[in-house]
Amino acid sequence: LSDRLGGIFDGLTGRGALSEKDVNAALREIRVALLEADVALPVVKDFIDSVRTRAVGEEVVRSVKPGQQVVKIVYDGLVEMLGGTEAETGLRVDNPPATIMMAGLQGSGKTTTTAKIAKRLSEKQRKRVLLASLDVRRPAAMQQLAILADQCGENVSSLPIIEGQLPADIARRAVQAAKIGGYDVLILDTAGRTTIDEQMMSEAAEIASIAKPSETLLVADALTGQDAVETARRFHERLPLTGLVLTRMDGDGRGGAALSMRAVTGLPIKFLGVGEKLDGLDAFDAGRVAGRILGQGDIVSLVEKASEQMDAEKAERMAAKLKKGEFDLEDMADQLRQMQRMGGLGGIMGMMPGARKAKEAMASANLDDNVLKRQEAIILSMTKQERRKPAVLNASRRKRIAAGSGTSVQEVNKLLKMHQQMAGMMKKMRTKGGMKAMMGAAS
Ligand code: GDP
Ligand code: MG
Repeated sequence: LSDRLGGIFDGLTGRGALSEKDVNAALREIRVALLEADVALPVVKDFIDSVRTRAVGEEVVRSVKPGQQVVKIVYDGLVEMLGGTEAETGLRVDNPPATIMMAGLQGSGKTTTTAKIAKRLSEKQRKRVLLASLDVRRPAAMQQLAILADQCGENVSSLPIIEGQLPADIARRAVQAAKIGGYDVLILDTAGRTTIDEQMMSEAAEIASIAKPSETLLVADALTGQDAVETARRFHERLPLTGLVLTRMDGDGRGGAALSMRAVTGLPIKFLGVGEKLDGLDAFDAGRVAGRILGQGDIVSLVEKASEQMDAEKAERMAAKLKKGEFDLEDMADQLRQMQRMGGLGGIMGMMPGARKAKEAMASANLDDNVLKRQEAIILSMTKQERRKPAVLNASRRKRIAAGSGTSVQEVNKLLKMHQQMAGMMKKMRTKGGMKAMMGAAS
């Protein structure tokens, strides 16, 4: 695939704005790459469409080939689509005993992942963890979990096995035992089948209603590709799932299932299983998975290099514009993007000399990084002409933009006001040489 992406870089020679032809040529290759990575077709279609909208018309950066620029946009889009917010990715296990319920098909890695999570919680968060197997169909399954619990160290135990109990009864007993034993976390490992059936689903739903888990994780095998999507959809219909775990990411699969499952369910991916051993569990990293879906890890460094060059060049161009006293909404969108990359407003404002006033203004405007994203969305909903000449933005245009970006007219107005303030500020700063320092830091 590297070769293929390399081919995109060489094939495109467009200048000025990225043309639809350039973008389409690059996206054809990306599309094949995504399908090869086992991303589900409808997901590929939606994704490609969104990237096309974003890429067409974007200004070409001289130092980067257009295809490379498209790949960068694709990579960023993948990361965004894969990633949950930070609050989403951690496990909610604060109120003891917090229950985690594991669900998934047989052989997906539920039992192994149960032990891996227990080990992680006990080692990283000093939690006392109780494990209970509700798999009554395979007697060996309960033994398997007990053996794994023993390997997790002294803070992890397993519920004593009583033969002949139903899963619902074991769930009740486990919740009781976790309370009495003063455990922080209870993890319920459920039985799976080879295919989804009604009995398994109603059993799982019953267990969920008894144990009231704070996390219900669907475990899926990354190597099953397309099937994983259907599995996720069906489980999500019946269970209050809170997250996904993708196992066998140590295999040769490209991890397209991660993207599909995330797109179909909207659930955050919490962990990746990366081996049979109990420490083979990684926190989810959207960038790594995006690189893998696109083919190679080296795409990431390539993209980083491209983005550095792009930032540097955009910074240069912006500095030139500012000299002429220009700062339109496209420039502002660039700034918003850079701010997000640089760890938010705090970071960038801290580097700007003499910008304390602006910093205070922004702080009082309650500008967190979520706001940055919304503001970027507002600007993305404008036409090119509107971005260049904000003066044309009358009431009906503002209304359209608010609807298009999923925001409100007030927010649009606020952004336009902020743009004016920033433009004014930039104008002043150019006389003090402050902008140069800022742009240097930003690239
Ligand atoms: P369950 O039926 O869903 O409980 O699946 P198990 O936890 O029993 O796992 C089935 C098999 O997959 C076992 O041989 C595990 O060692 C293996 N397995 C689970 N997770 C991973 C993983 O992340 N990587 C690899 N290579 N093997 C795994
Ligand atoms: Mg099992």
